[in-house]
Amino acid sequence: MAILSIKINSMIKINKGDGMKIEGLQYQLANGNWMDCEERTDDFLALCVKYGKVENEIAAIEKLLSGKTMRNDSADWYSNCRVKPAPRPVVKAEMITCSCGCTIPRGIVMNTSTGTSCPECFDRMSL
Ligand SMILES: [Zn+2]
Repeated sequence: MAILSIKINSMIKINKGDGMKIEGLQYQLANGNWMDCEERTDDFLALCVKYGKVENEIAAIEKLLSGKTMRNDSADWYSNCRVKPAPRPVVKAEMITCSCGCTIPRGIVMNTSTGTSCPECFDRMSL
């Protein structure tokens, strides 16, 4: 079994043996959105143990880390917890100003006989 070290406080940090790391726990709102548990992480984790019918917090965390949501109450449909998903890297397209004068993402720059061009000016620039 992977070594699981848990440090629970306002910012939950969970390290599994393979280096897997989560930044925190989230709980669901009635509108379906997810909120960070933050300083209430300990409380929510305890509720996950209770309503998720697992033995202890480690078992709850293992279940959460496997991508499952866990109940933190028996009442409402949205009474769920999950691990905070890793932030998606924002890929910013590199912008290039072509010979035609337009600024476009590098990926769609076209080469013509008179220099670089955006797709719209391609015909004009190819003359
Ligand atoms: Zn252009």
